[in-house]
Amino acid sequence: MHPNAECELTFSTPYQLLVAVILSAQCTDKRVNLVTKELFAKWGTPQEMLTLSPESLEKEIKSCGFYHNKAKNILAMTEILVDRFGGEVPKDRDILETLPGVGRKTANVVYAVAFGGNAIAVDTHVFRLSHRLALSDADTPFGVERDLMARFPEKDWSHLHHLLIHHGRYICKAQSPKCEECLLTESCAYYSDNHKGESVRAN
Ligand code: SF4
Repeated sequence: MHPNAECELTFSTPYQLLVAVILSAQCTDKRVNLVTKELFAKWGTPQEMLTLSPESLEKEIKSCGFYHNKAKNILAMTEILVDRFGGEVPKDRDILETLPGVGRKTANVVYAVAFGGNAIAVDTHVFRLSHRLALSDADTPFGVERDLMARFPEKDWSHLHHLLIHHGRYICKAQSPKCEECLLTESCAYYSDNHKGESVRAN
């Protein structure tokens, strides 16, 4: 169903990916890409970003929502990168997680997408689908991550993450999943719960 599932954020460097992922909280990748196209054209490196005042950065990223906190975190995170890491994004997930605005999900995305590491970032789509498909019954993103890591080979973790995100974005939507387009009905707990008494459609 998703032969081209990969990260849909536009970036040229690990730093740009990190900024884009921070901006993507509660915002669509499409919107983030529109904003970062303009932002990175002028302030695409950590050094360039630090020439912006908090107010100027807020203005640039306003349409992504939560712009006050996002601007504050991006500037604080960038300052640390420049001061302690020579302007480079560390490849270490634990260090990434210590940066302002970077939680486990963001660290996992950057680790997997920018550095080719094996990781499963659990966002709202991955969380929802893992439950619908009965891959996990954990009630926290970390619990879901742990269950998925136990079920799938490590080499598949990053790809699985993108597949679940794409499926959640385009087919298994939160409000109205398009089960009629889905090839997973036979193994879907949610489908079977909501279609009791019907025969599973042939895919
Ligand atoms: S069958 Fe429906 S609920 Fe289940 S994964 Fe597919 S789209 Fe989602």
